[in-house]
Amino acid sequence: MKLVQQWDAIVIGAGIGGLVAATQLARRGAKVLVLEKYLIPGGSAGYFERNGYRFDVGASMIFGFGSQGTTNLLTRALATVDQKLETIPDPVQVHYHLPGGKQVRVHRDYEQFLTELTHLFPHEKLGIRRFYDECWRVFHYLNSIELLSLEEPRYLLRVFVQNPGACLGLASYLPWNVGPIARKYIRDPELLKFIDLECYIWSVVPAEQTPMINAGMVFSDRHYGGIRYPKGGVGQIAQKLVEGLQKYGGEIRYKSRVTRILLERGRAVGVELATGQTYRAKRIISNATRWDTFGLLLPNIPPAEQRWRRRYQPSPSFLSLHLGVKATALPATTDCHHVLLDDWRAMTDPYQTLFVSIPTLLDPDLAPPGYHIIHAFTPCWLSDWEHLSPKDYERQKEAKASQVIERLESLFPGLDHDLDYMEVGTPRTHRRFLGRMDGTYGPIPRRVLPGLLTMPFNRTSIPGLYCVGDSTFPGQGLNAVAFSGFACAHRVATDLGL
Ligand SMILES: Cc1cc2nc3c(=O)[nH]c(=O)nc-3n(C[C@H](O)[C@H](O)[C@H](O)COP(=O)(O)OP(=O)(O)OC[C@H]3O[C@@H](n4cnc5c(N)ncnc54)[C@H](O)[C@@H]3O)c2cc1C
Repeated sequence: MKLVQQWDAIVIGAGIGGLVAATQLARRGAKVLVLEKYLIPGGSAGYFERNGYRFDVGASMIFGFGSQGTTNLLTRALATVDQKLETIPDPVQVHYHLPGGKQVRVHRDYEQFLTELTHLFPHEKLGIRRFYDECWRVFHYLNSIELLSLEEPRYLLRVFVQNPGACLGLASYLPWNVGPIARKYIRDPELLKFIDLECYIWSVVPAEQTPMINAGMVFSDRHYGGIRYPKGGVGQIAQKLVEGLQKYGGEIRYKSRVTRILLERGRAVGVELATGQTYRAKRIISNATRWDTFGLLLPNIPPAEQRWRRRYQPSPSFLSLHLGVKATALPATTDCHHVLLDDWRAMTDPYQTLFVSIPTLLDPDLAPPGYHIIHAFTPCWLSDWEHLSPKDYERQKEAKASQVIERLESLFPGLDHDLDYMEVGTPRTHRRFLGRMDGTYGPIPRRVLPGLLTMPFNRTSIPGLYCVGDSTFPGQGLNAVAFSGFACAHRVATDLGL
C-alpha cells in the first residue's frame, strides 16, 4: 500500500529563514510542518528571560522594517500572514569607538553621517561621498524590483521586462566585492580600514571579501528604512511569524530534533526525529546550516557541497555577555549600538572587535524599572573552549568576562559596581542552544571570491531537498535570511505547482 504524504513541505528549524519560507508557503495554500529542536522559535533571533530581564540571544540591529520599496522584507514577511510589529526607530545605527580615540556615529540621516565621517577625514570628503553614493546605486536597483527566487526563470524574465535597468545594474555588481570599489574613491589607509570595519561588523570579513550587493543593502537601508527595534524584543519577530503560520493552517512542533533526512532512490522524502518518529513530505527544507544539513542530517556530502566547502568556511562564534545593570551605569546620551576596536591590525583577531547593544534604550520594558540590559559580544573560536574541565571552563568564562567588563568600563565608568546580573555564553553555548556547527555565525569566504556569484541558492543537488537561511544566498542577517525565505518558498511553491 502506498503511504499518504501528509505534508507538502517540512521545514527543519524555526529560525527567521525557516519561518519566512514556511509562512510564505502556507499563505500560498501549502500544508507546512515546522520542526524545531528548541522550546521557542527564532534561533539566532530568539530570546531568553532571567530575573526580570528579557535578553536577545543574538541579533538586535534590525534592518528590513521600513515601510517603502521592496527590500523591507521583515515588514513584508509579517504582512503576508496578516501580522505587524510595533518597531522603535534607532537614530544611530552604530557608534564606533576607533583606534586612537576616534569616534564616528552612523546617523539615520545620511548627510549627518557623511559630515561626521568627513570631519575625521577632511581630505577624503569627495571620496567618502562617492563611495557611499555608489552603495546607494546598488540599493536603488535592489529596492525597485520584487525580490524572489533567482532560480525561477519565469520570474527573472518578468522582472527583467518590468525593470531591465535595475536587473542589468544588479547583475553587473554581482561579482564585485566592496574592497576594489572603496579603493576607486578612497586613498587614506586608515579610512580604508574603517570601511573594512563597516563591513566586518555584519559580514565578519574585511571589505576585500564582502559582496558589494550586501554592502549596498546595509550601507543604504540604515538611512532609508532605518534601523528599527521590535517592541517587546527581537524574539517577537519569530513569535509573530509563528502566529501567522498557524493562522494559515501551518503547524510547528517544538522539542522536535531532526536527526536524519530520509532518502528514497536519492530523493528527500521525509525526516526522522531523535525520538524515532518519522514524517514524510513532498519537499524538505533545511534551515540548519549547510554543515549541519550535509554531514549530520545526511551523512554523505555530495560533490556540490564539497565544492561549497572549499570556497566557504565557518566564521568564528562569539563570547557573549548578557548583563543587567543599574540605569545609573549609562551616561544620558548613550547610543544603543557600539563597536569598540583598539588596534586596526587586530580587527579580525579573536576577542578584539567588541560589539555592544543596549536595547532597553529603545524599549525600557525589557528590564525592570531603573535597569538596562547590555549584550556585549566578541568573535572567538570554539577550539578555545573545548577540552576544558568544568572547573577550567568556568574559570576561563570568568577571566574572559572580566576582560570584556574592563573594556566596557572605558565607555561606562563604574559599570562593574552597577552590575546586577550576568550570564556568559561561549561558542559551546551557541552550538548547543542555536544548533549551529561550532556555534558559527555563518559561512565566510576562504579567499577572495567573486562577490555573491558563488553563494548557493535554495535548491540542493538532492532532489526534493532545499536549504534556507544564512548558508544560502545572500548570507547572514535577519533581512538577508528573510530574502532567502522568500526565494526558497517561491522555488518550492513553483515546484509544487502552487
Ligand atoms: C551574537 C549574534 C549577533 C547578531 N547580530 C545581528 C544583528 O544585529 N542584526 C542582524 O540582522 N543579524 C544579526 N545576527 C545574525 C542573525 O541573527 C542570523 O544571520 C540569522 O538569525 C540566522 O537565521 P537562520 O534562519 O539562517 O538560522 P538560525 O537562526 O540558526 O535558525 C535555525 C533554527 O533551526 C533549528 N535547528 C537546527 N538544527 C535542527 C534540527 N536538526 N532539528 C530541528 N531544528 C533544528 C535551530 O534550533 C534554530 O532555531 C547575529 C547573530 C549572532 C549569533
